[in-house]
Amino acid sequence: MNDTVKYLLDESRIPKHWYNLQADLPRPAPAVLHPGTHQPVGPGDLAPLFPMALILQEVSTEREIEIPEPVRDVYRQWRTTPLYRARRLERELQTPARIYYKYEGVSPAGSHKPNTAVPQAFYNKEAGVAKLVTETGAGQWGSSLAFAGSLFGIEVQVFMVRVSYDQKPYRRALMETYGARCVASPSNETQSGRAILAQRADHPGSLGIAISEAVEIAAQRDDTNYALGSVLNHVLLHQTVIGIEAMAQMEMADDYPDVIVGCTGGGSNFAGIAFPFIGAQLRGGRKVDVLAIEPAACPSLTRGKYAYDFGDTAHLTPLTKMHTLGSTFTPPGFHAGGLRYHGMAPLVSHLQELGLIRARAYHQTKCFDAGVQFARAEGIVPAPEANHAVRGAIDEAIRCREEGVSRSILFNLCGHGHFDMQAYIDYFGGKLQDLEYDESELAMALAGLPSVAEPA
Ligand SMILES: *Cc1c(COP(=O)(O)O)cnc(C)c1O
Repeated sequence: MNDTVKYLLDESRIPKHWYNLQADLPRPAPAVLHPGTHQPVGPGDLAPLFPMALILQEVSTEREIEIPEPVRDVYRQWRTTPLYRARRLERELQTPARIYYKYEGVSPAGSHKPNTAVPQAFYNKEAGVAKLVTETGAGQWGSSLAFAGSLFGIEVQVFMVRVSYDQKPYRRALMETYGARCVASPSNETQSGRAILAQRADHPGSLGIAISEAVEIAAQRDDTNYALGSVLNHVLLHQTVIGIEAMAQMEMADDYPDVIVGCTGGGSNFAGIAFPFIGAQLRGGRKVDVLAIEPAACPSLTRGKYAYDFGDTAHLTPLTKMHTLGSTFTPPGFHAGGLRYHGMAPLVSHLQELGLIRARAYHQTKCFDAGVQFARAEGIVPAPEANHAVRGAIDEAIRCREEGVSRSILFNLCGHGHFDMQAYIDYFGGKLQDLEYDESELAMALAGLPSVAEPA
């Protein structure tokens, strides 16, 4: 049997539709509420920030939503993405498990993020929007939107969390290469930023703060919209191309996943790989054991509260019901910057409440152990975020060995780590620490959750 086993679909098999989980939910997710009135938001409330096409996708219950041809045309540059069977890793783990991974690192930006950046830029362009403003943590979302903006002739401004801005000059350079303007957040360019800086001039920033800054600018200007790289329903929708392709590829492999593993920051790559399979299950298909892996230093699914909260620090965004650590929670620094968000996608949170997924939290050292083991067996260096999924998949494979059962494990390798080699240098130098979040700070952030009377 060959060691290299790759399942690739012809480009004619790039999905023509995204899959919308909202069509198959046994119970709809709770309504999104207006931050001022606490009443359900209508399309008009979101219109200052997003084009109508995306707002309609946000609330759609149609099962299939057509992917516009210009978007499929851009997808064609790197999609379909390969699905590999990790035979060398299986052998090294001496596991009877069959391990498969879907590799999203082949996109120009190196992760799954362009799957949504491209349609978001497309719909904004169609709506006549000249400029998009966004936030970025580690820089993966910022560089993906910068890439998409350059394709559709849209100006892009990115608020990059200060610590990452200082630590990751290469991601910043990539954004600038694509023509975007990258600003360290908190910044002096917005009221939200200035308020934070007045309290603490050397504030390291957070995704919540950067979101406030981007939303503030987008809300003020008619020709400028906001774009979010995760969390929202339409973002998760766009990512389902991953799982739809994986379903066809698993069929080529003549197999079906018993276990699906993904890492969760805001939940989008996890949703991308898992939702099409969960949807099939909800429509009477095979049951899948779906596992979300999150960082122990920012554990929204395993330690957060399921409650209405703001998406940002300055409380400019609508209220969504989600697993949250509180919008003022600042996680300790760790290398998977893309996983440092206080909340979780409402749809992923809802699935956890419905018992359709389970979650586990890992510290970063164990994740890097797994990432290095994976790289030495399979040749691909995962992003620090993706190392969480690798850890989860390896632990499931070890469990198969211990229980003497052969399960099929599918995980999403959501991005490569070529821009994150400093994290690997730190790991090899023994400098990675498994930081605990501050319990009292978490308690304080949770105590500050808005009190919301849920609409009936
Ligand atoms: C942004 C990012 C994440 C986290 O975001 P999700 O919405 O949870 O997918 C994880 N991995 C990579 C490589 C990312 O770029």
